Amino acid sequence: MLLLGAVVALRSGPLRDSLAALVPVAPWLVFGAGMLLGWRFNRIQLVLALLVLAGADRALVYVADAGAPVGSAARVAFTCVAVLLPLDLAAIAWMTERSRQVPPTGWLLAALAIQPLVVALVARPELADVARALERRLVGEGGAWTPVPQPATLVFVTALGLIVAGCLARQTITQSSLAWAVVATFLALHAAAPPASTVYLTTAGLILVVSLIETSHRMAYDDELTGLPGRRALGEALARLGGQYAIAMVDIDHFKRFNDEHGHAVGDQLLRMVGTTLTRIDGGGRPFRYGGEEFAVLFPSTTAEEALPHLERFRHSIEHASFTLRGRDRPRTKPKTVRPAGHRRRVAVTVSIGVAEPGSGRAAPDDVIKAADAALYRAKHAGRNRTSSAG
Ligand code: GH3
Ligand code: MG
Ligand code: MG
Repeated sequence: MLLLGAVVALRSGPLRDSLAALVPVAPWLVFGAGMLLGWRFNRIQLVLALLVLAGADRALVYVADAGAPVGSAARVAFTCVAVLLPLDLAAIAWMTERSRQVPPTGWLLAALAIQPLVVALVARPELADVARALERRLVGEGGAWTPVPQPATLVFVTALGLIVAGCLARQTITQSSLAWAVVATFLALHAAAPPASTVYLTTAGLILVVSLIETSHRMAYDDELTGLPGRRALGEALARLGGQYAIAMVDIDHFKRFNDEHGHAVGDQLLRMVGTTLTRIDGGGRPFRYGGEEFAVLFPSTTAEEALPHLERFRHSIEHASFTLRGRDRPRTKPKTVRPAGHRRRVAVTVSIGVAEPGSGRAAPDDVIKAADAALYRAKHAGRNRTSSAG
């Protein structure tokens, strides 16, 4: 949406004129504030990406000239920026992927630092061959549709492909924002000169900064293990809710024993599976991870009685689900032949549920939760694997 905004703003005359006053300050604001945020949030990748974008922006403003004759220093600078920018962003994306392991920050930093030197070198007459190679036409003849030389376009497409592939493997906000930043960067080079190039590069920076804020928001509100919204989100959802609603508390039966028998890691796996099953609950139920092995389901504009059949269906689906544990002897690759069922450990899992709605003596959401908890307690005492309503 940010990128779309930039494209529209640049295409419409009046908008472009009113934005013109922003162009000299916006990059400094976005890149400066973004680097500060990245530093405070310990996101070295964001700092580096913004540094690269800011560097490219200044190069396009002061040094590079896409329209200069091929072979001139200004055109070589443009070509080098066009090739290096996607390479750098792809390297930073790759670094983000690997951030759990040792981040290879040192050499990446060095690689970024020498790039202005490389550009200056390639602009030397002695290296005219290299400059010419970077301008090579790979396909087609005649007038080009973009000032971006074809090898650079190829690098862009490859970088975008790699980042999108990373997105498919592990969809995170950071990955998809990097993909959009690469698109914005290409548009900047396609526009070739300020103010449009500055607008697009600033937009790329803004996309990355917004993604950091979104990631932080998600960290605060969503539970990391199950991906469900957490207790803070439940509190806010309850505060917004009024009138009729129902709350169900869902608790896994004998989870402590399960943990003791199979280990904590397998317990986590089970929590994730229950969380996933809970997202498929119907009747408009919104699941939250309340804490530990307890989940809460919020049914807006629903009575406890109306919520009951949906909760019962969920309870049955857990009871009849065949949770197959990934054993320690699990082969790393998918076996060609199906292993005998005895090898796979299947475990029976059940949940108990208590449901309540606001009523006489309980108007505040906290009281409704307490009533649902009491109902859950009754379900446990009545033998577990059942749903009980607050009276
Ligand atoms: P009941 O049927 O009465 O609910 O028995 P229970 O064992 O499920 O209940 P209890 O409250 O005694 O035990 C809850 C257990 O949940 C204890 C704790 O080790 C485990 N647990 C809490 N959070 C997590 C978690 O994030 N991961 C894992 N693996 N275990 C957790
Ligand atoms: Mg419990
Ligand atoms: Mg339990």
